[in-house]
Amino acid sequence: MRLSRYFLPVSKEAPADAAIVSHKLMLRTGMVRQNGAGIYTWLPLGYRVLKKIEQIVREEMDRAGAIELLMPTLQQADLWRESGRYDDYGKEMLRIKDRHDRDMLYGPTNEELITDVFRSYVKSYKQLPLNLYHQQWKFRDEVRPRFGVMRGREFLMKDAYSFDLTEDGARVAYYKMFCAYLNAFSRMGLTAVPMRADTGPIGGELSHEFIILADTGESAVFCDKTLLDMDPPGLDLDFDGDLSGEVEKRTQYYAATEEMHDEAAFAAIPEDRQVSARGIEVGHIFNFGTKYSKPMNAVVQGPDGQMVPVQMGSYGIGVSRLVGGIIEACHDENGIVWPDSVAPFHVGLINMRAGDEACDKACGELYEQLEAAGIDTLYDDTDDRAGAKFARMDLIGLPWQLVIGPKGLEKGIVEVKNRKTGEKVELPFAEVIAKVT
Ligand code: ATP
Ligand code: MG
Ligand code: MG
Ligand code: MG
Repeated sequence: MRLSRYFLPVSKEAPADAAIVSHKLMLRTGMVRQNGAGIYTWLPLGYRVLKKIEQIVREEMDRAGAIELLMPTLQQADLWRESGRYDDYGKEMLRIKDRHDRDMLYGPTNEELITDVFRSYVKSYKQLPLNLYHQQWKFRDEVRPRFGVMRGREFLMKDAYSFDLTEDGARVAYYKMFCAYLNAFSRMGLTAVPMRADTGPIGGELSHEFIILADTGESAVFCDKTLLDMDPPGLDLDFDGDLSGEVEKRTQYYAATEEMHDEAAFAAIPEDRQVSARGIEVGHIFNFGTKYSKPMNAVVQGPDGQMVPVQMGSYGIGVSRLVGGIIEACHDENGIVWPDSVAPFHVGLINMRAGDEACDKACGELYEQLEAAGIDTLYDDTDDRAGAKFARMDLIGLPWQLVIGPKGLEKGIVEVKNRKTGEKVELPFAEVIAKVT
């Protein structure tokens, strides 16, 4: 992409109402534009990152055997009356009437809708297990929308729903998501810690929030440092095999959010391993048994011919919240430092003297080679000052910067800078692509 033809409304100043670094940087880099409280337009640069995250989530859901579909944002209220949640959900739910005066709502989550899909088609245990997911916009009329996309009112969520005949089956489904989540967050350059979460009136142990540590996180969290140093299960994990070892390896260590915190258990951890910090909830997995299947009559026939309510779980990831979360984890005083996997472009090519025939030619050729090699490149071909170009490239945080100017051209070299390490090397043109791949 040539910057002169792109839409990248970068600004020098962060608006005064942006309280945390990710929100400031997202506004300054022109990633999002606020429309109303907690409602954003995803501008081109931000949208590229959102799609990268969405794709990683998709790949890891698919790898774990979940199947993608797409449910609507607007839902009929009737299904929510069946489950009893239409009245329970409260003010976070945006309620709407259509022209026939029918009650509708903008979905804050999709348990009812997916349960209805399930009960309409699945009648036998032979069709199980099943895990269906989508990535769709949600609306929650939050009391305090803030921190930009971190607590929006309209936000993108990946939500998956598992269906099993037995509790043991549901546990297997839960373990698959537990492992897939660790792999997905790791691919985004994040260390997410699964922490025991409240299961409410349903009880049981199968609820975990996935938390990344950040000073600006909204929850107080407590965990054993061992969990922060652990590698994810890995992309070669056999999801058809026994995953209990992978889960227990982690759940044996203390990790809880404020609501579940147990002072005594935490104090029992060796002091040098006690981590007390703030965290951002980027995912949440939950086994709720027959909470929805019973009232909504989602039953399947078991091998013995009996009809039983299906065992369910739901698994959310805050896809749009992650954009802010990753920036909280990956930035320095000059701007964002994107992990390769979610960077909006892989390379930023800077023409130090646009309009100079030799510079234009060298940049144009390298740009074509990069694109031909499948490397997403943002080519700064504008006539801005060199200093402004460097600052902007640092601010938007692409993993690699390639700088071409008259002096380098005399020597036949390109300056290659790694945004994360700051390391700069001068390389002949022929070696540049190998360096950045
Ligand atoms: P929170 O505690 O932050 O309000 P939640 O527990 O209400 O989140 P869940 O119902 O568990 O959220 O939804 C699944 C995921 O969706 C969360 O883990 C979070 O990453 C994301 N999410 C929830 N609310 C928002 C929001 N207002 N803006 C952006 N992402 C959100
Ligand atoms: Mg909430
Ligand atoms: Mg929560
Ligand atoms: Mg939650």
